[in-house]
Amino acid sequence: MRAPKAFDPRRLDVAAFAKAGGHLDGCTPLRDLRRLAEAVLDDPAAEVPWTLDGNWRQPAGDEPQWRVHLKAAVTVHMTCQRCLETAPLALSVDRRLRFVMDEREAEALDEASEDEDVLVLPSRLQVAQLLEDELILTLPIVPRHDLCPNPLPVAADLLPADVSDAAAAGESAASDDPPQANPFAALAALKTARKPG
Ligand SMILES: [Zn+2]
Repeated sequence: MRAPKAFDPRRLDVAAFAKAGGHLDGCTPLRDLRRLAEAVLDDPAAEVPWTLDGNWRQPAGDEPQWRVHLKAAVTVHMTCQRCLETAPLALSVDRRLRFVMDEREAEALDEASEDEDVLVLPSRLQVAQLLEDELILTLPIVPRHDLCPNPLPVAADLLPADVSDAAAAGESAASDDPPQANPFAALAALKTARKPG
């Protein structure tokens, strides 16, 4: 018996992987996914578990169809744009990709297909790069809690302009610095204390 072919996620032969019905899984440190790590708050211990499965079909009289199915999940942290506290955000990827030989065919099929992306078969695929691209696509444009722990119903109107501006511009600073007491929290406490009942 031959040993099953080992597939290298750093330079994956997608066609062979799909045809063999291959399976890969791993746990990639978030810090290795540079562009994603830079978009979220620093979390040196975070890891992204993922699986990649391949499958292949050869319809009669048609071109072979190579497919992979990528699944991954990770919780990252971003600054909530409503309350400016750190918000945990659960990202998950469940993406089916089909590969074809020809770029024009890929474009036409991709437009026609709703449930899978169609790409040109790469000579080698870096799974980590695909993983990172797909996770970045799931990042919210405006990160925020589903339910803010310290809601600030009318804060924006009450704040002096300079504080609002600092808050709006403060996102990059917040990602470099450890969490600090924020001026909104004190205001919230004050307003809560003032409420009758
Ligand atoms: Zn919030």
